[in-house]
Parts: sequence; structure tokens; C-alpha cells
Amino acid sequence: MTAAQAARAFGEVYGTPCEGVWAAPGRVNLIGEYTDVNEGLVMPLALPRLTWVAARARPDGRLRLHSAAAAGVVVELGPGEPAAPGAVRGWAAHPAGVAWALREAGYPVGGADLHVESEVPLGAGLSSSAALQVATALALDGLHGLGLGRPELARLAQRAENAFVGVPCGIMDQTAAACCVEGHALHLDTRSLAARPVPLGLAAAGLRLLVMDTRVAHELGEGAYARRRAGCEAAARALGVRALRDVAYERLAEALAEVEAAGGAERHGVRPGPLVRHVVTENRRVEETAALLDAGDPRAVGPLLTAGHASLRDDFAVSCPELDLAVATAVGAGALGARMTGGGFGGSAVALVEEAAVTEVGEAVRAAFAAAGHRLPHVFPVTAGPGAHRVV
Ligand code: ADP
Ligand code: MG
Repeated sequence: MTAAQAARAFGEVYGTPCEGVWAAPGRVNLIGEYTDVNEGLVMPLALPRLTWVAARARPDGRLRLHSAAAAGVVVELGPGEPAAPGAVRGWAAHPAGVAWALREAGYPVGGADLHVESEVPLGAGLSSSAALQVATALALDGLHGLGLGRPELARLAQRAENAFVGVPCGIMDQTAAACCVEGHALHLDTRSLAARPVPLGLAAAGLRLLVMDTRVAHELGEGAYARRRAGCEAAARALGVRALRDVAYERLAEALAEVEAAGGAERHGVRPGPLVRHVVTENRRVEETAALLDAGDPRAVGPLLTAGHASLRDDFAVSCPELDLAVATAVGAGALGARMTGGGFGGSAVALVEEAAVTEVGEAVRAAFAAAGHRLPHVFPVTAGPGAHRVV
């Protein structure tokens, strides 16, 4: 798949050439999971896999949407539409929601024809949704000269996902797609939105990052997400802080005693203590990872990844048998470290692996899945690609 193919497909769908092609990447989060919903720290990197939006402005204010992933159906909206969330459902809610969020924020979004192509796997925890939203926002910005800055673009794409698509995600995915830098992870403070590219230096150190897409998505995901989010908010209130990000690592033991005293019992199926412990230690792991990468020691990041997985599995309880198997097998086969990435309950894991062990680790993981009777995972190495950009 290339931008040229996206441009060609646009011509086939709409019968006229596109004006340009804009791209945004999927992402993997190296470390910092469920910290963004606690105003904390994350460290994603852009995948070298892109979503392309080929587009052309329309003078009549109409918006037409088509994707190769939903071939044949062109979603058509009149001038000023969609007027409100709920007006568009299904995949087209993502780009329509972006147009809505931009207009709501006062940007003069005009009409456009859009065609979408993607090599980001959908629903694999690699954030195809944010790639689609950010590529759409960048295309509308390019067509209509909106002058959107990248952090603002990410914020409005997140608003589209939250308020229009109806998924209460944090700001990480859209910021990763909009702001990542090639060869770097992005150290992002999701409260201040301060973002700093951190050099990964993996190739120079003889290392590779493997993505292990389990190809499962367990249904319990969504309600579990809401319960944990509510649990974190309740714990923050009990501790008298705005968000769990405000609990210092040095104060963890004290904070755990406090939530216990405030009634540490299970509510809605989650206990507050382990949630607090995960968020506080995970923020710490992000800082430690950034420090190691800054010091040019990516090899030492491995154990932090594995510790992060244990925390998500045991304390935050968002892993699943397939993710646990992928992580344990990768580490058992010689990976320096591995963890689930993204929301969990399926989706993908990442492993940090010596270049020479890439094949062995991949084969071990596939063999373990076969032996357990799971669908075979997709295991592939990734490099840190660029953030969203205009291609043509
Ligand atoms: P993830 O973001 O991890 O891939 P989500 O469930 O958040 O998983 O987003 C996947 C959804 O985003 C798809 O079901 C579809 O609605 C939409 N989507 C993403 N990429 C595309 C695409 N290229 N074409 C059409 N819809 C897409
Ligand atoms: Mg998503």
C-alpha cells in the first residue's frame, strides 16, 4: 500500500483526481498504560504503518466519506452536517466526528470528498482509530487552510472519539499519531501536554521491537475500562488529589494505607488499592525508561517492560490469557522484556529483543499459541516511524 494507490483509488471512487494525500500512523505504547486517564505519563512511538486520506475540497459544503475497509458505501453529509453526535454511526463516525469537532471549535471546515486506505490493522490495539481521525483532521486542515497546530489537532481528534464516536479514551493515541518523531518515542505528560521525543537508539544497540498481535478482542473490554476509570477517580477523591498522577512514588505505601482506611473494599468489581499501585508505579516506570533511553542504554529498558506487564496483569487486571502467554513466551525465549500494550483484553503486546533472537522469539510465540489452541498471532518487528504528514 502506498499514497499513490490511495490517490488512484480516490479517482476510481469519485471520478476526479484528489488534491492531496495525508497520512497518520498507528502507534504502540512502549510504556505508560492507563496512566493517560490519570493525567500521567505515557511513551508511545509511531508505527511505520500508516492510514492515508486522499482528499479533495468541495465548494458545496458537502462531506463524502469512503474507505477501502468498507468498500462500496459512500457516506454523504450535507453542508453543516453532522450537526450532533449520533448522526453518523459505524466507521464513518470517526472522520465525520472530526469534521464536527473542528466546526464546534470554530474552524471553518468546508466540504470535501475523502477516501481512506490503511495498513494499520483495525482493532488490534495499534490505534487505527486515532490514525484515521488524525489523518482526516490533517487533510481537512490542508484543504481548507485551518492553521491547526499539532497539539490542538490531537485534542480535537480526541474530542471526536470521546464525544462523537463515544469512546472515552485519553489523549495518548491522537497525540502519538499527530506528534511522534521518526526514530523516537514520545514522552508525553498528559496533564501539561508537554511532549518530548526521546531517541530509542534500538538499531544502534542491536535491538528490535516486536509487536505481537494476538488477534483476539475479548468483549468484556468496554465495561471493564469504565469501571477502572471510575475506580481511579474514586481513589483520587479518597486521597484528596485531582488525579492519581499526583500521588508521588515515594508516598505510595502511605497512599495505599489511606485508600484502605477509606474503605478499600471492592466496588463495581475493582479494588482501589491495586489500581493506585499500578498507576503510581507505572508513571515511575515511564520516567525510568526515559532516563535509560536518554543515557543510551535501551537494553536496560527490558525489565521495566516486564514489570509493567505484571502490574497490568495483577494490579490493574486488564490482561488476558493470550497476552500473558505472548509476554511469558517471549521473555522465556530470550526477549529482554515484554508487555501488553494498549487497553488490554486482547490486542497487542510488545517485546524488546536482541536482533539475533527475533526469529526465535517469533517462532516460540507462534508455537506456544498453537500448543494452547489459540489463533496464531501476528508477530512483526517495528521501527519508530514519523508522525502525521502530507504525502502528496
Ligand atoms: P484500534 O484503534 O485499536 O484499531 P478501535 O476499535 O479503537 O481499535 O478502532 C477501530 C475502528 O476504527 C474500526 O472498527 C473502524 O470503525 C475505524 N477505522 C479505523 N481505521 C479505519 C479504516 N481504515 N477504514 C474504516 N474505518 C476504520
Ligand atoms: Mg482505537
